Amino acid sequence: MSRRRRIGVMGGTFDPIHHGHLVAASEVQAQFGLEQVIFVPTGQPWQKSHELVSPAEDRYLMTVVATASNPRFSVSRVDIDRGGPTYTIDTLGDLRAEFPDAELYFITGADALEQILSWHRIEELFDLAHFIGVTRPGYSLNGAHLPQGTVSLVEIPALAISSTGCRSRVNAGLPVWYLVPDGIVQYITKRGLYRPEPAAPAAEW
Ligand code: ATP
Ligand code: MG
Repeated sequence: MSRRRRIGVMGGTFDPIHHGHLVAASEVQAQFGLEQVIFVPTGQPWQKSHELVSPAEDRYLMTVVATASNPRFSVSRVDIDRGGPTYTIDTLGDLRAEFPDAELYFITGADALEQILSWHRIEELFDLAHFIGVTRPGYSLNGAHLPQGTVSLVEIPALAISSTGCRSRVNAGLPVWYLVPDGIVQYITKRGLYRPEPAAPAAEW
């Protein structure tokens, strides 16, 4: 009897993508026999977007660079092309339309899971996808009130890496080698991401 194809969905800001994201996706792919994991970088918030997160195209390209070598990983532009802030319900709705015959598995870390579960129309999300909560150092899943049987919890090899930490390190002139894939170190340098703002040029008069 043929099984429905299983597709993982890993949403994130990916500013930048790091090895914590990649290990989480890889571990869930293997444990659940997922055909592929689609990484979905979030859209750009409308207000003060330049202060909050890097441009969507930079985050998208970093995600492509970081996942390119894994045949089971791919990247979707649905949230970026929709524009504006991303809501998981829209991400899953778009991917469901794109893969009507697949079972979707939404992968999320302990911190993000708690936020998603606080959404008041949570049943609509559970209709669209299975939810998989992965362990993340510094966050506990115990306190989350998980409706019975709705979310699978998966222990992944612990990596205490965050994008916030990577941005701070670059900003402070510290290395991010081995926290992010090599290509991402090079992309960050090439595009001058996360560096302190250059001082405004002195007035010429
Ligand atoms: P930021 O510090 O900017 O919030 P982040 O490291 O949390 O960045 P996100 O893009 O916000 O990365 O996270 C995308 C998804 O990956 C979320 O579900 C998050 O919980 C999960 N995640 C991020 N880092 C890890 C990690 N080290 N281990 C497990 N899951 C992680
Ligand atoms: Mg985060």
